[in-house]
Amino acid sequence: MEHRIDRIKKQLHAQSYKLTPQREATVRVLLERESDHLSAEEIYLLVKEKAPEIGLATVYRTLELLSELKIVDKINFGDGVSRYDLRKEGAEHFHHHLVCIECGSVEEIMDDLLGDVEKIVENEWGFKVQDHRLTFHGLCKSCQKAGVETITS
Ligand SMILES: [Zn+2]
Ligand SMILES: [Zn+2]
Ligand SMILES: [Zn+2]
Repeated sequence: MEHRIDRIKKQLHAQSYKLTPQREATVRVLLERESDHLSAEEIYLLVKEKAPEIGLATVYRTLELLSELKIVDKINFGDGVSRYDLRKEGAEHFHHHLVCIECGSVEEIMDDLLGDVEKIVENEWGFKVQDHRLTFHGLCKSCQKAGVETITS
């Protein structure tokens, strides 16, 4: 955890920003809950446990700054809520998500499965891919085991 905080500190410094105690508290929550996809309000409530004096506006501004610096990615799973996701170290592109339409669980796929698709887009559309969002919506393993069936028309 400490070396990742250190790296993020350096990323901020490189853009002339400081890792203030409030920003650090926010980054720590993101690291501790890395497998979650939290909204600004959820992050705020967790940060408040570490830094009770912090306000929602400060947390919100920190999250915007971290998104701008590509330290976190903002993602929306179709429920209208922006969620914040730490970018994995060394990952060139954003990881993929499997969102269960029944229980709402979110799984992450760390391997970039889009290499061939990116090549097609670049060759056939002459478009230089910088990043992508790929979210699959469906039923997770445990919902399938529990007997939930997809609605087919
Ligand atoms: Zn994710
Ligand atoms: Zn990719
Ligand atoms: Zn499920």
